[in-house]
Amino acid sequence: MARVALVTGGTRGIGEAISLALRDAGYKVAATYAGNDEKARAFSDATGIKTYKWDVASYDACKAGIEKVEAELGPVEILVNNAGITRDGMFHKMTPDMWNEVINTNLTGLFNMTHPVWTGMRDRKFGRVINISSINGQKGQAGQANYSAAKAGDIGFTRALAQEGARAGITVNAICPGYIGTEMVRAVPEKVLNERIIPQIPVGRLGEPEEIARCVVFLASDDSGFVTGSTISANGGQYFS
Ligand code: NDP
Repeated sequence: MARVALVTGGTRGIGEAISLALRDAGYKVAATYAGNDEKARAFSDATGIKTYKWDVASYDACKAGIEKVEAELGPVEILVNNAGITRDGMFHKMTPDMWNEVINTNLTGLFNMTHPVWTGMRDRKFGRVINISSINGQKGQAGQANYSAAKAGDIGFTRALAQEGARAGITVNAICPGYIGTEMVRAVPEKVLNERIIPQIPVGRLGEPEEIARCVVFLASDDSGFVTGSTISANGGQYFS
């Protein structure tokens, strides 16, 4: 029986590549999204992957959404916490709303999504939780105090939960992408990309979403059972942690 993999923010960008790679590796995939119905419909029509809409910042919505996924596809054995947002601004201009939105989505969202699947994973003695953090959670980034704090929190969450899940056959790992060529990054002016960002990346280019997806496929697999609490830095050599 194919295992069920749930990918939050699985309809666009890095999440879309993760959903496709997991499907191609033989998983039954559920891809969630927040509000972009048009993109989700096009994605589902093109791939045959089922999509579900809820806000990862709401615990009740996550619990109800996961129940629906499990009723339709089966127990979630692979959870990829990928959904994320930015609300950038220098700290002196950052509002409480900018802080709270990013913390609630990028950090509390991991609690909200992982808690409802955790008991089932423990009971079945198998689980894979894969958290998409960021290079900016490792090194900190000016203009992203909210995002850097949330993404650093994701790494702490990963390390703590890895210890709790280990005896129950659950691994918990983080991936920290560097600059990946999604809409989020392609929106940066070309001049800034070419003159300021790409020169900082030793391999000399942006990463591709599929390069993150291949890391996820490894961490989801039965072969990765001894890898837990780890952080994969997939950033073209830009930062080591
Ligand atoms: P995109 O903006 O391209 O896609 C984000 C996805 O997350 C969309 O499917 C979106 O849904 C969904 N989403 C956003 N907020 C919520 C929410 N509250 N509840 C449910 N779903 C939500 O992002 P990327 O692909 O660029 O980034 C994916 C992850 O990788 C993020 O966690 C990001 O922080 C991280 N990352 C990205 C890097 C990059 O270079 N792009 C670098 C390092 C880390 P909808 O389509 O409905 O809006």
